[in-house]
Amino acid sequence: MNNKVVVLKKGKEDSLRRFHPWVYSGAIHHIEGKPDEGDLVDVVSADGAFLAKGHIQIGSIAVRVLSFDEKEPVDASFWQHRLQVALEVRRAIGLFGNPQTNSFRLVHGEGDGLPGLIIDVYGSTAVMQAHSVGMHVCRHDIAEALADVLSGTIENIYYKSETTLPYKANLTDSNGYLLGGNADDVAIENGLRFHVDWMGGQKTGFFVDQRENRALLEKYSLDRRVLNMFCYTGGFSFYAMRGGARLVHSVDSSARAIDITRANVELNFPGDERHQAFATDAFEFLDKMPSCDAEDAYDLIVLDPPAFAKHRDALHNALQGYRKLNAKALQKIKPGGILFTFSCSQAVNKDQFRTSVFTAAAISGRKVRILHQLHQPADHPINIYHPEGEYLKGLVLYVE
Ligand code: SAH
Repeated sequence: MNNKVVVLKKGKEDSLRRFHPWVYSGAIHHIEGKPDEGDLVDVVSADGAFLAKGHIQIGSIAVRVLSFDEKEPVDASFWQHRLQVALEVRRAIGLFGNPQTNSFRLVHGEGDGLPGLIIDVYGSTAVMQAHSVGMHVCRHDIAEALADVLSGTIENIYYKSETTLPYKANLTDSNGYLLGGNADDVAIENGLRFHVDWMGGQKTGFFVDQRENRALLEKYSLDRRVLNMFCYTGGFSFYAMRGGARLVHSVDSSARAIDITRANVELNFPGDERHQAFATDAFEFLDKMPSCDAEDAYDLIVLDPPAFAKHRDALHNALQGYRKLNAKALQKIKPGGILFTFSCSQAVNKDQFRTSVFTAAAISGRKVRILHQLHQPADHPINIYHPEGEYLKGLVLYVE
């Protein structure tokens, strides 16, 4: 029995009995054994019954649960087993051993029973990201298990947690290779190639979560004038080009993202003059772009902004942001145009997002039909006991 124990207040054990993987600090009565941040603790009810074990951390989510089984040790075989199951899931959905797509998410935090841990695979490189102190503490054990589970597939493990770990925890060694280091940065998705900037880029270097939505966009691209707003490294753009778009304009406020977008287009469509990229602010671009009745209006627009609400208290502003952004695009899209619009804010649910887009449509006065309702792909699974894991939402709209 672990002597580091979190004792809950009376009546606060219900969510753990329903396998929800978080303990909020407000539910804690007292803590025994003086655990350090990142330590493994047992969580018990007010009357001392074992509920779960997990990593403790300062903050509103105080414990992230690793196991509800008192007898399951968190040791080398634990990491090995969890990663092996995660890999079996990716194999089951056709993402492992697929030469057309060698980039996928192997571990999606709570969705794979590993709260605080993200692992994305890009060809022969796995990029590992810790969002909790506990996962940071365990990084070498996890890397060892990962190298074992993916042996023969990956040669490099890059650890990238500088921006995702709590700043106040004052941790060191939060970025760097844990295995290899001499990696080819080109990965493949549905046969398209792209550079992944895991060292300097956002998140783990690429947004693998839009893979299926990009493939859907390809089908709508023929002969269209496409605007890929918030393009990052150009994912939607090169699918649109393969789909036969008349032209593709990629926009992002980050000059570095635009440079990589250009390089990625060049990698797939060398010398193709249909593509142009602009390093500029989305709202300014939308204000200046042609109106819906102009000859050169866009008739396929992608809006994939960063999370407007990182926390629940920012919800109101986030919804306003989605409304404003979508209203601008809906006002200016050509009649018969298609809008792909997304929200990746965890704090904004499907209905709230849909209501913002509905309001935007009403402001624009256009007739709008919903063609598709989009979401995150199967390699970003949602733990059924943790509905908060559902974060990516999208709508495909036909605008008359
Ligand atoms: N659609 C992308 C992912 C978008 S991530 C893909 O498929 O890979 C969000 C992007 O929005 C980031 O690249 C960020 O640089 C950009 N961004 C953030 N604020 C912006 C703004 N005001 N105007 C333009 N781009 C912005």
